[in-house]
Amino acid sequence: MLRVAVVGAGPSGVYTAQDLVAQTRVPDVRVHVLDRLPCPYGLVRYGVAPDHERIKSLQGTLRSVLEDERIEFLGHVEVGRRGLGPRRLLDLYHAVVYCVGASRDRRLGIPGEDLPGSHSATDFVAWYSAHPDAAGAGFDLSGRSAVVIGAGNVAVDVARMLARDPDTLRPTDLPEGVLAALEHGGVRQVWMAARRGPSQARFTTKELRELGALPGTDLRVDPADLVRDPAYTDPERAAELPAVARRNLAVVREWAAQQARQAADGPTAGAADRRCVRLRFFLRPVALLESGGAVGAVRFERTVPDGAGGLRGTGTYEEIEAHLVLRAVGYRGAPLPGLPFDVERGTVPHRAGRVLREGVPSPGEYVAGWIKRGPTGVIGSNRPCAKETVGSLLDDAEALARRRVAADPLAELTAAGGPPVRWSGWEAIVAAEAELGRRLGRGPVKIPDWAGLLAAAGG
Ligand code: NAP
Repeated sequence: MLRVAVVGAGPSGVYTAQDLVAQTRVPDVRVHVLDRLPCPYGLVRYGVAPDHERIKSLQGTLRSVLEDERIEFLGHVEVGRRGLGPRRLLDLYHAVVYCVGASRDRRLGIPGEDLPGSHSATDFVAWYSAHPDAAGAGFDLSGRSAVVIGAGNVAVDVARMLARDPDTLRPTDLPEGVLAALEHGGVRQVWMAARRGPSQARFTTKELRELGALPGTDLRVDPADLVRDPAYTDPERAAELPAVARRNLAVVREWAAQQARQAADGPTAGAADRRCVRLRFFLRPVALLESGGAVGAVRFERTVPDGAGGLRGTGTYEEIEAHLVLRAVGYRGAPLPGLPFDVERGTVPHRAGRVLREGVPSPGEYVAGWIKRGPTGVIGSNRPCAKETVGSLLDDAEALARRRVAADPLAELTAAGGPPVRWSGWEAIVAAEAELGRRLGRGPVKIPDWAGLLAAAGG
């Protein structure tokens, strides 16, 4: 029997576990999927926005993998602490695959970034996703204007969550406290600022379109921004772009045309009170400005394409009022104590998924997912990534099976950090969340704190 630990129960961890038991090269593989949280599914539970029900429903697929009798979910097991480091795991398992994702946010490195009211989108997402580490987080949503910096799908997610009529979120599993904060909040203008043009934005078209289709929320683009993008004005240049960029250009073009038609028709009643998403391009943040002890505005430098795919500043500046700033400029991997880490890339050095220690593959140690390839791609990108890693592990299986490991890893894990939350504990959390929702007259509602989750799991 080959005993494997997969560290991290997000999509990359679950796909890794699935590939390990589905293959036929090594007959008897048993997998423990360990997670720091008492809940599985990683960013599918704690990252995908609550109004993205279709992506959320992927939890059903991941669940059926974790219910395989050869796979066991063990939650509330923190690798890297209490003597449970990578070296110790190698005493317990023939192989360990790290699928720990990229949990940190990238920084802007500009003055005012840490002013009250300026937050990473990562923290905001954790809060509205009911991540237990964010239970104490508070977001002041009383101001009228919020600025989201970045033009990736996370920026779109947080802009949409701020701009959406909270009533439309009631059917989701959004925690009750977050729903109340959004309902009582005063945010009406949500600016989303990209430092490059629409043809270079990172968001995908479906996500972009959604921003323009929120009931009761307007969407505005600035035509002066759009024409600065050479691909917007030159069809030949546009034709050379990847399909997603061409589709994104078509969407903003459609919005600009619609806006021009509406302007010609004259102002509509009540427009000033409606929520509005304002999409801006070619604005590079240079400072967050203070007002009354908190952030009051963002200063941007206007940029232009440098002709080589990059940007240059123009020396012209623009300030946008902001009572809340969310920095959505990408995730970063965090080092796991005892595991090698490439600080530049924010990933674990590897060769085809084999962890490299001082440039040499370390027997029994593997990586998959964002900690292997960096925080890019959609959930499905984890499938080929996991496949490559599992392929390497199976190539090494003969040598791995010869490694001497402890007879009962579960007993050792329990001795190190207390009894893990097993699948029955997770099912008890699911039941408790359904019951909480019933009491509130809603569907299942997430439990947002450690004490609540562990109490539910214990019960
Ligand atoms: P991302 O796609 O890498 O986008 C980061 C954005 O931040 C880019 O627009 C980037 O601009 C900008 N940026 C970086 N540094 C900046 C700076 N100093 N100043 C201003 N802007 C800066 O990252 P993400 O949005 O965090 O998403 C991570 C991954 O998760 C992506 O693969 C994404 O597609 C995926 N995701 C998918 C979904 C979904 O499918 N619905 C939802 C959420 C996340 P430049 O391009 O100019 O560098």
